Amino acid sequence: MINNPLVKKSLSKIVEKEHEETLKKRFKEYYPDEETPEGIDNLIRALNLPQEDIQHIANDIQETVEKTIIPIINALMDGIETDEEIAAKTEIKLNIVRKILYKLYDLKIANYKRSKDPETQWYTYSWKFDEEELVRQINEECEKELNELNATLENEENNMFFVCPQGHVRYNFDTASDEEFLCVCGEELVFQDNSDMIEGIKQSIKLTKSDLDSFNESLQK
Ligand SMILES: [Zn+2]
Repeated sequence: MINNPLVKKSLSKIVEKEHEETLKKRFKEYYPDEETPEGIDNLIRALNLPQEDIQHIANDIQETVEKTIIPIINALMDGIETDEEIAAKTEIKLNIVRKILYKLYDLKIANYKRSKDPETQWYTYSWKFDEEELVRQINEECEKELNELNATLENEENNMFFVCPQGHVRYNFDTASDEEFLCVCGEELVFQDNSDMIEGIKQSIKLTKSDLDSFNESLQK
């Protein structure tokens, strides 16, 4: 279950968040007077990041999930409970193991019990992975994505769209006629055939559904 693409996608959130914070800081430096966008994709677009940087972020996300987060979860699933034992087993640095454990805790997919060693008076934290919660979250995320895709599909199917040939704007019929079929740049808007886009959304819906089905089926085994 842990190597399922939907699990990896869900765990990517942990690393995405870090990149998002970095990009937010960068945006604030560049555009101190503008409202900082939310979400990594919106930030990438707003900052107009070069392809090379986008690739670097994508690689870092994938690598951290596969080489750090998943091995730590695997260790937890094998019944290893303390950060030190996880670090020894996975050969991942202790401070990184701790950082990831707390991030998993923030996402509610790991939890710990604290106990005091009667001799040393030190606290020990025994960690557990909450597989059921992760499964629940993945289902919830997919349902949300499907709802959004269906809403987009409905909007595309029930409207006509007009675009600036220079790519500045895309309006539905009502907005386009309010603007007298002119772009802010002065160019005349042209009708856009969105049937390829509709086909693309339908494909995404199909794919998301089948990914979710095979994920849930894999849990039965
Ligand atoms: Zn224009």
